Amino acid sequence: MAKVQLKNIVKNYGALEVVHGINLDIEHNEFVVLVGPSGCGKSTTLRMIAGLEDISGGEISIGENVVNNLPPRDRNISMVFQNYALYPHMTVRENLGFSLKIAKKSEEEIAKAVAEAANILSLTEYLERKPGALSGGQRQRVAMGRAIVRHPDVFLFDEPLSNLDAKLRAQMRVEIKKLHQKIKTTIVYVTHDQVEAMTLADRIVIMRDGHIEQQGTPLEVFETPVNTFVATFIGSPP
Ligand code: ADP
Ligand code: MG
Repeated sequence: MAKVQLKNIVKNYGALEVVHGINLDIEHNEFVVLVGPSGCGKSTTLRMIAGLEDISGGEISIGENVVNNLPPRDRNISMVFQNYALYPHMTVRENLGFSLKIAKKSEEEIAKAVAEAANILSLTEYLERKPGALSGGQRQRVAMGRAIVRHPDVFLFDEPLSNLDAKLRAQMRVEIKKLHQKIKTTIVYVTHDQVEAMTLADRIVIMRDGHIEQQGTPLEVFETPVNTFVATFIGSPP
């Protein structure tokens, strides 16, 4: 059974339907990228998986559970956003451990999870610094670290790199790919950037106007686009 299943997912805002019955199975440890132009429903879809938006129709399962009515904290997911907000008055160590402290984990458990995340993300030497004394890339790694410490079943990323400059974006792409190889987890990643999608994805899902236009490996989509929209968007040769 797939790790995340979307069955005929619909989203209405008032009278307006913005997601029109999406079906998608995401396998264990798969890195799936939802990509498409601005406004096509990527964030809305991700937020429905996270439980941050109600769904207007259909069914979402994570693992064995139908999660339609579960609040975000009971879905065992972690989400990394574009506008990651670190706590400026806390050190990196405190930022990383904060959610576990809230969850009343023991000091020992917190220290172990923080050390592990810092190691994976090469943040060990920065643990006593505050966010103001970090570079943009380091801050972004702390934001990811905060998601990792909770050992979620599924990571959801919504355009995590779009506020970074081009050079840093390229570096972070490599880091995120490495992260996925190291911790073997299921990732659903949203971006409007084709290059990001093509380099990160095991499977790329191209969305347009609230539906899926095509899905496949980056190579499949690049080599056999189903129509001119996909070809143009992905930059396939004519
Ligand atoms: P994307 O992330 O692909 O850019 P979104 O999922 O944010 O697109 O938005 C999909 C559509 O839903 C857009 O037309 C957007 O204007 C609309 N939309 C998103 N959020 C709301 C909201 N809270 N109320 C009304 N319309 C919304
Ligand atoms: Mg969006």
